[in-house]
Order: sequence, then structure tokens, then C-alpha cells
Amino acid sequence: MTIVVDHEATEIDEARLRRHLATCPACAVAFDEHVAIARAMRGAPLVRPPRLLVAGHARRLGVALLGVVVLVAVALLVTHGR
Ligand SMILES: [Zn+2]
Repeated sequence: MTIVVDHEATEIDEARLRRHLATCPACAVAFDEHVAIARAMRGAPLVRPPRLLVAGHARRLGVALLGVVVLVAVALLVTHGR
């Protein structure tokens, strides 16, 4: 349902969904809600996150990446270092 709302569905999938919506009031209501939410999201202003939040996130991401690099290095040493 969400891929139809986001215009990512194939024509066949969309047609199938539309046929189902025509016969299923519960899904039709859910679909209308998805459309309304998607429309509200598109219309919402972009909010810039506070600089501190971004810096903290970047630091955590850097630490996580470093952890992955170390893990890969250790794994390579273990498998090829003999
Ligand atoms: Zn249904």
C-alpha cells in the first residue's frame, strides 16, 4: 500500500490494490490515511537538527565505523595471518 502512495509500485500492483480497495472499506480507509500522511509529510517544512545532535550522531557513527574496520581487520588476520 505504501509503495503505491509513494509512486513506487508497478502499474499491475497499483491496479490490483485499486481493485481491492473498491471492495474492502477497511483497506480503503487505511489507504486514505496513508495518502493523507504522505501529503502532510511532503508539505511539512524541513527542520534542521540542532548542531550538537548532529555532532553527537556523527561521532557515534564514526566510532561504529571504526569498530567495523577493526573487526574486519581482526577477521582477516585470523583467517589469513597464519
Ligand atoms: Zn482489505
